Amino acid sequence: MDTILVVEDEPVLLETLEYNLKREGYRVVTAADGWQAVEVARRERPDLVILDVMLPGIDGFEVCRILRRETTVPILMLTARTDEVDKVVGLEVGADDYVTKPFSMRELLARVRALLRRERMLREELATERAERWERLAFGDLIIDTASRRVYLRGEEVSLKPKEYDLLLFLARHRGMVLSRDLILERVWGWDFIGGSRTVDVHIRWLREKLEDDPANPIRIVTVRGIGYRFEG
Ligand code: CA
Repeated sequence: MDTILVVEDEPVLLETLEYNLKREGYRVVTAADGWQAVEVARRERPDLVILDVMLPGIDGFEVCRILRRETTVPILMLTARTDEVDKVVGLEVGADDYVTKPFSMRELLARVRALLRRERMLREELATERAERWERLAFGDLIIDTASRRVYLRGEEVSLKPKEYDLLLFLARHRGMVLSRDLILERVWGWDFIGGSRTVDVHIRWLREKLEDDPANPIRIVTVRGIGYRFEG
C-alpha cells in the first residue's frame, strides 16, 4: 500500500483530500505546516507528497527544496496563483508536477496515480540497468556511472540533481540523435507532466553550466534550432 503525505493548512481541504485518497486505497499521513511536513516526511518516508505552496512556517517551495536534498519522492504541488506555477516550473524547486487550485478531485487522483506509476517504472528500469551491469558510460573526460548515479568530469564528481542526472543519462544514451523537447519531456519527466518544454530548457541550461567549459557555446549538449537538443559526448 502506497503512503501519501498531504501537506495543507486548510482543514476542510486537508480532510477532503485525506478522505478521497483513503477511499482510493492509499495510506494517508498529514501535516498542516511546513516544518511538520519535513518532520513527517522523514519519519514516514511516503511514496508521494502532495504539497500546498502557501503554508504557515516555511512555505511549500522551501519544504520541496529540503525534501529534494534528501529523497527522490514524487512531489505534487498545489498552487493557487499563476506566479506560483511559474516558480514551480521555472525554478530549482524540484517538484514533479502541480495542480492549480481549485482543482477537481478526479484530476488530482489521476495525477497521483500517474506519478506513482512513473516512479515504479523508474525503479524497475533502474533495477534492470543494474542487472545489466551497464555501469559506466564514458565520453572523453565525462563519465557517467549508472550504478551509483554519479557523474565525473575530469576526475571530479559533478553534483547533479536527480532530474539533471536523468536528463543527462537519457541524452547520453541517445548520443548523436536529435531529441525533441517533447520527446525529452515525455521520457524524462513522464507523459503527464504539463510543465512544458520550458522545463527541458531550464534543465539543459543547468547541465551546461555544470558540464560545459563555455556554457554559452556548448559543445557537449548542442541546440538543434526549432527542434530540441543533441548530445555530442
Ligand atoms: Ca495553504
